[in-house]
Amino acid sequence: MDILTNPEFVIVGGGISGLLLALRLSRDPKKRERGIHLIEKQPQLGGRFFFSSTFKFTGKNSEEISQEINENAFKNLYLSGPGFESMEAGTLEALYRHVESHLTEDEKNQIEEILIQDNSLDFNKINKCYIVKKEFVSEVDLFSGSSEIFTKKDSELFKSLVFDFYNSNHLNEDNNSQAKDFTIFEKSTFWNECGKGTKETFAPILTSLVGPQWEKATFQYVCKALYDFFSNHKNTIPPSFFRKKGLEFAIEKILRHRGVIIRTLCEVVRVHYNKVTKFQLLLSDEIQPLNKILKCSKLILAIPLVKCLGLLPKENFSPSQSRFVSKVRPVSLVISEISDFLSVKSEQWPEQSGSGDRLVFPVERAQGFVTHDGRILFSTKLEYEESLQAPSVREAISRLRRAAARVLKSEFAEEFKKGARIPQNKLLERIVLLPVAFTIPCDMSPQIEVKETKMGIEGLYCCGDSFPGFASEPWKMVVSSVHDVAMQLNS
Ligand SMILES: Cc1cc2nc3c(=O)[nH]c(=O)nc-3n(C[C@H](O)[C@H](O)[C@H](O)COP(=O)(O)OP(=O)(O)OC[C@H]3O[C@@H](n4cnc5c(N)ncnc54)[C@H](O)[C@@H]3O)c2cc1C
Repeated sequence: MDILTNPEFVIVGGGISGLLLALRLSRDPKKRERGIHLIEKQPQLGGRFFFSSTFKFTGKNSEEISQEINENAFKNLYLSGPGFESMEAGTLEALYRHVESHLTEDEKNQIEEILIQDNSLDFNKINKCYIVKKEFVSEVDLFSGSSEIFTKKDSELFKSLVFDFYNSNHLNEDNNSQAKDFTIFEKSTFWNECGKGTKETFAPILTSLVGPQWEKATFQYVCKALYDFFSNHKNTIPPSFFRKKGLEFAIEKILRHRGVIIRTLCEVVRVHYNKVTKFQLLLSDEIQPLNKILKCSKLILAIPLVKCLGLLPKENFSPSQSRFVSKVRPVSLVISEISDFLSVKSEQWPEQSGSGDRLVFPVERAQGFVTHDGRILFSTKLEYEESLQAPSVREAISRLRRAAARVLKSEFAEEFKKGARIPQNKLLERIVLLPVAFTIPCDMSPQIEVKETKMGIEGLYCCGDSFPGFASEPWKMVVSSVHDVAMQLNS
């Protein structure tokens, strides 16, 4: 009974950080015996990538719910969220190697068996991208200057901005901040030499691709974001990461099999600490509403640092973590998702275009992404916001709907442009605000980097992508911070 109510380890957050840490800790039989719990407020694991499911779950337990979500995924039902599909192939290959490194040979085989087999997925397709204004302009036309978007001269300049200043060799510069160039984009020679008309043409595209405040970002960061967008999307992602494959479900099965207790639809609302009883977590649990308290002696918060603020007083953070949350505002992402897109797509939709392809909407300052299960996601980045009702979020939603109108059949487009809500039986639209998309803004000063996962109380740790002292890419911060926590828990 004891490990059910008073385990040694509790991990809060079932995103990629929480999953990697749970896999790593549960390899050790002694730690398993002392109890490992994983708490996730969403109905399923996966975190920011699988931000939820539209399904209703009354009366079921966590295991039944994830089983049902997985079966629905196979039938293409109730899928939601960008999935790992929207990430770069190289990143996913590295993440998968990390997942695999925590598995036994048997478990590796089990994962392969659990992952949904689906012959309809095309693993060899080369993804494309289009800039959508009145027409769909392909990359080739964009860079050759034969489109409505750029003049010949502007297309040359843009091409140079995308490909000349950044290339993936720079990825190795991570821990060498001395080598980083902190020139701010708006002060760069490149930008200052651009004419007024060119700046006006580039600005909305930069907002769509880089996010708000790109002018204040470093020149290198802007070039990297552009390079990544136009280069990385072409590679096909490793098969296990397709949204409907159910990777999060496969990892969950392995963890449960090892004896990790997983509670989904369970939110930690507050953490209390005293030296004798250690950590006491106050829970809001939709599945077991009466189980409101969980105690443990080692607590790991696998959620963005800004989110830890709601659970603990700032005094419980380490000095650098506290400085970081005070000074660094993360970026939010608003996503509008339309299901069954391929049946409602515009008559102008380019032939041979579909899943994995990306769209840029310069007028609406938004992006689009077609998933392999036929949904389309429109997204735009904003300065940090928590509420869907905030004016900036509402304004963003109307931009996303205008972007959607450009790629939908005319009958839907007209209704969307008027701002009407489309009856759900015609088109399933879903709006989500991801409070923290890319946690670390581009122009972070080295003085506020976070380099430690240990927090201000004995036994309290955090991990995730709020650790710019460890690396420059979010996934590398995830991997290094999880490793750091695991090492400390071993010592
Ligand atoms: C569209 C998109 C594209 C991206 N592309 C890239 C990319 O190409 N490369 C890259 O490196 N990174 C990318 N990122 C960033 C990447 O998603 C994050 O770094 C990564 O998902 C962080 O995982 P995490 O587990 O630390 O956090 P999360 O995924 O946010 O997981 C935290 C989990 O904790 C849960 N939770 C939060 N609070 C509580 C609570 N109080 N109680 C219980 N549960 C709670 C949440 O529901 C969530 O499931 C992208 C992000 C987005 C949104």
